[in-house]
Amino acid sequence: MPTSITEVAGGACARIDLAALRHNLGVVRDRAPGRRVMAVIKSQAYGHGMLPVAQALREQVDAFALARIDEAVALREAGIDAPLVVLEGPLTADDLGLARRHDLALVIHDLHQLALLQADMSGGALDCWIKFDTGMHRLGFDPAQADWLLEQLRAPPWLRLAGLMTHLANADDLSDTTTETQLARMRTVLPGCGLARSLANSAGILAWPDSHADWVRPGLMLYGASPLTGRDADALDLRPVMTLSAPLLAVRRVPRGEPVGYGGTWRAPEDLSLGVVGIGYGDGYPRHIGQAAQALLRGRRLPVVGRVSMDMLMVDLRGLPEARVGDRVTLWGEGLPVDEVARWADTIPYTLFCGVTARVARDYGG
Ligand SMILES: *Cc1c(COP(=O)(O)O)cnc(C)c1O
Repeated sequence: MPTSITEVAGGACARIDLAALRHNLGVVRDRAPGRRVMAVIKSQAYGHGMLPVAQALREQVDAFALARIDEAVALREAGIDAPLVVLEGPLTADDLGLARRHDLALVIHDLHQLALLQADMSGGALDCWIKFDTGMHRLGFDPAQADWLLEQLRAPPWLRLAGLMTHLANADDLSDTTTETQLARMRTVLPGCGLARSLANSAGILAWPDSHADWVRPGLMLYGASPLTGRDADALDLRPVMTLSAPLLAVRRVPRGEPVGYGGTWRAPEDLSLGVVGIGYGDGYPRHIGQAAQALLRGRRLPVVGRVSMDMLMVDLRGLPEARVGDRVTLWGEGLPVDEVARWADTIPYTLFCGVTARVARDYGG
């Protein structure tokens, strides 16, 4: 017979602390004083929700950066009137129409985009950043083309130069010399041309002051995770914005030697209490997380045991007899840095944030 009624309120939830977000923007301002800030809110603000993040920061940044046109259009349609920069630039002539209608600045990284712009010149000029490839070999013009490009782009009726951009490939690693090489190459691009320059992502902002230039482009650090290998977010004064939590659905007794979960990859080493938590890979918790993984319950770290399933995972409740059905279990965030969870899962915080699925409620506060 049941002894008492327990109701489990709320499922898997990502609480988003907008005060922490603004604090982290303050860290950007401290580290790169006087520089203009293009806050990177692509991919749903790294899973935090593009529109609420834009609304929280709109008065405090100089621009927002998105990866794609449709992201920028969605922001405009939701009433965001801040300057918007599209990092991948236009793909089609329709994109140019959208950029004009919604007043979007475009990053131009290839000749095919210049040809699109030129073919569309009757529409009027668009604001464009020119991107150079200084060593990452992803997007961008060869720095050797810079002088020729500038000649083409000085005064056409179809383009207004907003600035020069490049992206750092290895800035997270303080001992990697690639960053110095990239900074040196960027210095060879149109020196003294007077155009604004932008090089620094979060790692550049925190570790490479020479990369700050005129505009910085923070992404990850705004969300409170560390962009530097071997450096904790806490030590960088970054506060977690997302706290991912889920309810304890059941507390079970498992006898010694019995397997737990799919495949029985973990067996109870003694008679013990097991907690079943209502979150799984269907919510974005990584199925491939390693043996060292932990979750946080009532201030205590508990091992995650057995395979993560779609909707649930299990924790070893030895040492926490007070755990009750309905307790909230933190998977990362306040009290359990996402950087640690990323290491257990052999990945980076970016993928954990972006992987939180749509069925996880976002709860905004601060
Ligand atoms: C995503 C992105 C950023 C932000 O990078 P973080 O490492 O998250 O700070 C900056 N610039 C470009 C071009 C990007 O694609």
